[in-house]
Amino acid sequence: MNVNETRKRTNVCSLSGFRISGLFAIINQVLFNRNKMSDLYDVIVIGSGPAGHTAAIYASRADLKVLVLEGWQPGGQLTTTTEVENFPGFKDGIMGPQLMAEMKAQAERFGSEYITKDVTKVDFSGSPKKVYAGEDEYQGKTVIIATGAKPRRLGLESEDRLWAKGVSACATCDGFFFRDKTVAVIGGGDSAMEEANFLTKFASKVYLIHRREDFRASEIMIDRVEANEKIEILLNKAPIEVLGENNVTGLKLKDTKTEEESEIAVDGMFLAIGHVPVTDIFKDQIELDGHGFAVPKEHTMTSKEGVFVAGDVADSRYRQGITAAGMGCMAGIDAIRWLDDQVV
Ligand SMILES: Cc1cc2nc3c(=O)[nH]c(=O)nc-3n(C[C@H](O)[C@H](O)[C@H](O)COP(=O)(O)OP(=O)(O)OC[C@H]3O[C@@H](n4cnc5c(N)ncnc54)[C@H](O)[C@@H]3O)c2cc1C
Repeated sequence: MNVNETRKRTNVCSLSGFRISGLFAIINQVLFNRNKMSDLYDVIVIGSGPAGHTAAIYASRADLKVLVLEGWQPGGQLTTTTEVENFPGFKDGIMGPQLMAEMKAQAERFGSEYITKDVTKVDFSGSPKKVYAGEDEYQGKTVIIATGAKPRRLGLESEDRLWAKGVSACATCDGFFFRDKTVAVIGGGDSAMEEANFLTKFASKVYLIHRREDFRASEIMIDRVEANEKIEILLNKAPIEVLGENNVTGLKLKDTKTEEESEIAVDGMFLAIGHVPVTDIFKDQIELDGHGFAVPKEHTMTSKEGVFVAGDVADSRYRQGITAAGMGCMAGIDAIRWLDDQVV
């Protein structure tokens, strides 16, 4: 073996040595990264109503690593109702909790992970985005906010007890069940006027009950209500008890001026005193409107890059299962495309 040959062999050895150690380094790096990345999700969905589940279905079906933090009400508002008759695909209707269980199972089928925890804090300032549930921290390349909105309630024990048993906050959802019945709508704004008018399509009589002397609603809406023969307006009255054992049978009212109490017989009570979007924890992170609803800026993306929004939390108008699911689909697709665009 001549000198040149020895040199060549040594070079090959040191080269393969370098290759081997380089390979170890790469393997190490991959393993290390994999460990480090094990809590890094492509998409973190906050909320598990129709919007959250649908976003999770779309994102996980696109092979993304998806975590859904379900929150205090797994399945969302529809788990508080019985029959859902207007969600397409179920011609005989479907029970709210069952519909939501099906949606969750569909998202899990494609690999979405679910954790039943409330998000207590978020930090969208950097990348990845950080989402906290108490002490636990989760990291996401993107976040989809689907925390819904809560109907404002009167705060009566009887109202809670008879919720979905004649007490409702959605005429579009439940008006149909009150054909030829008597119902009361509580509120004095545009939505109260709209709900009262809508309910006259089904109910034989609608009381519109407002605690003040004057309505906050627009003139045109008030005119429509006043012109509707099926509507009786009761001003300066506030419900103090919903009557009935298993179903609503009436309301106990208090006159807000004289404090005099009275009762009326009704089969249902519809609250139209507003909805509160669940956005407290996002206040300093994304743009909200004057009522606290999240504001989508570009399609479903909020004022923060990579943070999307879907469902009632961003919708003060339609507030339906199908519209929330539709927006969840949009947010899922937007998150997929946004992630694709980040790859150079
Ligand atoms: C009694 C009732 C009957 C209804 N009936 C119908 C009907 O027949 N048809 C219809 O189409 N619509 C109906 N609706 C309206 C429908 O339920 C809503 O429009 C729909 O559920 C909105 O979906 P969402 O996903 O935006 O939010 P929601 O369903 O409100 O879900 C919000 C989710 O966010 C989670 N969340 C909140 N805060 C946090 C947090 N900090 N961390 C983690 N998670 C959090 C909650 O746990 C929940 O899972 C009804 C509503 C009610 C109240």
